[in-house]
Amino acid sequence: MMTPQHFKEKGRFSIDISMKLDAINKPFQEVPPPDEAVVFLRQHVGLVNQPLVKKGESVEAGQKVGDAKGDFAVPVHSPVTGTVKTMRQVFNPISREKEQALVITTEDTDLPSKEYSVGLDELNRERIIEKVRESGIVGLGGAAFPTHIKLSAKNIDHLIINAKESDPNLACDVRLMLDRPESIVDGIKLMARALDTRDIVVATRTEKGELGNFEELLRENNIRMVWIHPSYSVGSERLLVKEVLNREVPSGRYPPDVGVVVHNVATAYAVARAVLHGEPLISRSLTFYSEKTGGRNLWLRMGTPAGHVMNYLEISPEDVERVIFGSIMMGNSIPDWSVPTSKYTSGITVFTPAEPDPYRRTLPCIRCGYCNTVCPVDIYPQLIMEADKKGDRERLRRLHVEDCINCGLCSYVCPSTIRLTGYLQSGKRRIE
Ligand code: SF4
Ligand code: SF4
Repeated sequence: MMTPQHFKEKGRFSIDISMKLDAINKPFQEVPPPDEAVVFLRQHVGLVNQPLVKKGESVEAGQKVGDAKGDFAVPVHSPVTGTVKTMRQVFNPISREKEQALVITTEDTDLPSKEYSVGLDELNRERIIEKVRESGIVGLGGAAFPTHIKLSAKNIDHLIINAKESDPNLACDVRLMLDRPESIVDGIKLMARALDTRDIVVATRTEKGELGNFEELLRENNIRMVWIHPSYSVGSERLLVKEVLNREVPSGRYPPDVGVVVHNVATAYAVARAVLHGEPLISRSLTFYSEKTGGRNLWLRMGTPAGHVMNYLEISPEDVERVIFGSIMMGNSIPDWSVPTSKYTSGITVFTPAEPDPYRRTLPCIRCGYCNTVCPVDIYPQLIMEADKKGDRERLRRLHVEDCINCGLCSYVCPSTIRLTGYLQSGKRRIE
């Protein structure tokens, strides 16, 4: 358990990154699509999509199968060519509730060939934003916020590309910068054109020279790269804006309110593939870690059940105590292996029976204050927990529960192994 002498300063928390280091040098492995893809109708922050297909209908890979009217909606597309077998309620690790998903039986895994290629210079702001929305692009850093909404912001003077990947178990963004730098730079240029800003900063924790060709391409395109402290949680948008531009995003406000838009490096890649090559968002990168396989960078279709990934990597149920989807600091465990990946899934981490859940046995709060000390946004997790237990919405508002960035540090340091993030999330829902 961490103690205060490990806290360097707020937002500068050093954390074990051995899982990340284990994966960083591994090129992407493409996981074959599953026999049945399970596609959540909502894979973004916002409105729930309505299905556009019925049971028994044939669909092509990349075909739009769910959408909704309204700004806060992003369509979903079929990840495979096949037949809609059914629509059913499936556990979603993001909401921790059952949500509607289409089950599609795979008949062909190739994308239909399309003669689609458009030059960067042929595109204006409106076409880029429309194409990004229609391609189902969301923030791939784990938040799944609709990208077209961020790109529609006005009066933006800076675009920050978050290439920091501060999560201790993830390496897929670094791998993407090493393996596919040209498309990322194209995506950054498209984003800058949509936002009408020339001031672009790529923020990274990697040392100068480690990203090879990517750094060269940034220089050629006059894109600035800044090195930021390799601590956990500075990857959060609000903290990144402060770190890179020394601008405060006030409580309850967002980076565009201070003239800045932040996008993840993998989102830039998805934007380029969608806008320049007509590829909707049906697959993504993620980092997998288990004791047996070590760290791996995988490329897989959305809607791939966890069990399919386990079979592919030859992991047996008896080797597994629990599985976490997403970052190990911010992600959620899944109840069984039928749960599918989605646009949110940036990582999968497998823990063995020798690594039991530390939060299984919780002790009373001893008011040590560690959780308050470590919180990077200066709120009081322990007081919020008490307010949430009482259902005191007024106090939750006064304690600014909405400012929580869900970094997980308070739970991580708590000597009583209290899962404080659960109370933070519940508190946020209470005041919505
Ligand atoms: S309260 Fe929120 S932001 Fe603060 S440490 Fe906990 S999870 Fe992180
Ligand atoms: S919740 Fe945990 S870390 Fe926070 S004051 Fe109580 S015992 Fe300490």
